[in-house]
Amino acid sequence: MSGAARGPAPVIGVLALQGDVREHLTALTGAGAQARPVRRRAELDAVDGLVIPGGESTTISKLVDIFELREPIDKRIAAGMPVYGSCAGMIMLAGEVLDGRPDQRGFDGIEMTVRRNAFGRQVDSFEAPVEIVGVDGPALHAVFIRAPWVERVGAGVEVLGTVTDGPAAGRIVAVRQGNLLATSFHPELTGDLRLHRYFVDLTRAVA
Ligand code: GLN
Repeated sequence: MSGAARGPAPVIGVLALQGDVREHLTALTGAGAQARPVRRRAELDAVDGLVIPGGESTTISKLVDIFELREPIDKRIAAGMPVYGSCAGMIMLAGEVLDGRPDQRGFDGIEMTVRRNAFGRQVDSFEAPVEIVGVDGPALHAVFIRAPWVERVGAGVEVLGTVTDGPAAGRIVAVRQGNLLATSFHPELTGDLRLHRYFVDLTRAVA
């Protein structure tokens, strides 16, 4: 079914302070959203959903304060705005961060503990198939780049995907809590739009 057949295209912003913003804008457009960068309060006010991209969570945390976006984003999250965080974005959505910088602060969105750079030096970057609950078809080809993993989830968090093979087998790498979605990996780098479609559908349903 085409995006048009499902209803109007939701407006989805990509937090454009640092990280792989352009790749998410392209993937969201391909997945049927009206995608636009968000750097200002007024731009945030105009979106139905938000993507927090991969990059460096310590830097994004700092820039969120400099751009005076922390309180507005916290408020939108509390009001139910769908948010998808990928890699650094996952860290920004976590209630608790291990191996973070003491001054980094997220949005306290998902009741979970994530460990930064969890996969270690040996496996700094790697790729692995990951099956995602709610995403049809074959396993996603997940790209991990200095990625976090999820060490603990609260009762309200649904685990959507885990690593199945290798030294990190069993590690949680995709979760959802209400309208908040997070992955350790970077679907925006693979050309596979299924996860972005999942988020566009979620945002359309809420909007
Ligand atoms: N290690 C980065 C961080 O702590 C995340 C890496 C990424 O987003 N690819 O934010």
